[in-house]
Amino acid sequence: MNFRDLNLHESLLEAISYMGYETPTPIQEQAIPQILAGKDVLACAQTGTGKTAAFILPILDMLSAVNDHSVKTVVIVPTRELAIQIDQQIQGLGYFVDIESIAIYGGGDGSEWDQQKIALTKGADMIVATPGKFISHLNLGYVKLDKVKHLILDEADRMLDMGFNDDIQKIISFLPKKRQNLLFSATMPPKIKQLAKKMLVDPFEVTLSLSKPAEGVLQAAYMAHEDQKSALIRELISGKKEYKSILIFTSTKKKVNQITRSLQTSANDVAEISSDLEQSEREEVLARFKSKQIRVLVATDVLSRGIDIKDINLVINYDVPGDAEDYVHRVGRTARAETTGVALTLINEDDMHKFAKIEKLIERVIMKIPLPPGFGPAPVWDANARPKRNYNRKNNNPRGRQTQGNARRR
Ligand code: AMP
Repeated sequence: MNFRDLNLHESLLEAISYMGYETPTPIQEQAIPQILAGKDVLACAQTGTGKTAAFILPILDMLSAVNDHSVKTVVIVPTRELAIQIDQQIQGLGYFVDIESIAIYGGGDGSEWDQQKIALTKGADMIVATPGKFISHLNLGYVKLDKVKHLILDEADRMLDMGFNDDIQKIISFLPKKRQNLLFSATMPPKIKQLAKKMLVDPFEVTLSLSKPAEGVLQAAYMAHEDQKSALIRELISGKKEYKSILIFTSTKKKVNQITRSLQTSANDVAEISSDLEQSEREEVLARFKSKQIRVLVATDVLSRGIDIKDINLVINYDVPGDAEDYVHRVGRTARAETTGVALTLINEDDMHKFAKIEKLIERVIMKIPLPPGFGPAPVWDANARPKRNYNRKNNNPRGRQTQGNARRR
């Protein structure tokens, strides 16, 4: 199938070709005709599948037939980064059609509030918003939503995890009852099914390779004690010219800071991003990483969902994510849409049970690579390991760690 078979407007086909998309991805093939036919859609698709264009293209097609700029489409997303990114894709794919969109999100220095207020008062065909900030504007009464025809929830599972359910319901209460609803979620836990039941009418359902990283990702893992990890990371990335863009994930802001400092000693093109940074700082770091001025970015999960950065060659999980689905999201940062990439995970003795769960979820055993020479003994992989009870959180070291020999100290 090619894009022409999808019956999209000529101006959109032109933008698609400028974006370099040659053929529709499976979710685009399946969802676009249904959305154009006015159906509600429940799509289970992770980032990297082309899901954003799967809803932007048919919506732009439908909106281009209407001439006024009243608000006709509302897209609700969990994070400001995703709001900005979707808005940018709307600008790109909508370059040759007369469509206006606004991104509404919080976290800036306050000057955006007035700009957003002016834009919302004036109206725009599409609003892409995070729930909290959108509600603050809605409560002040100047946003006209009576012409809304399409509601899209993107990364719905993430929004519910972040406690946005009430906010979503509140936003829905401002919208006309008769409208098209599209719900995109990377996972389908019972709470998403409940939300879908409440919100969607006779939806067309698409499920795409749930919980499996993209085909092009080479996945491997190292067993390593906590105190072996920073030296291992330095070894893995230094002098490796083939890794031009590296993303390192860890679970806490504190570790983001520690890892960044440890890498800054051996390489100076390292930056960090976590929710501690101001919005403007986060955007600046992301922009520099995207334009390859920064080679290594250390991040918490703020970045792992939804954000599309091209050509990341290497993703390192400094620790095993607590939620197995998060592994898929983190690893999904590399090998987007048919490129290739490497994803490495460092597993300490306490994380083995979590990693075994991930292997079960993705239905694949990940290769465990031995530590490089000189690192000393590593923990021994045990797929049936149980979570340790006596965990000393303060220094992130289990009291009763079981190893063969002593790990090298540094
Ligand atoms: P998404 O899953 O929406 O985050 O998209 C992942 C990446 O795939 C983005 O960089 C898109 O620009 C890109 N993409 C979307 N559709 C296509 C397509 N049909 N062909 C090639 N790349 C695409």
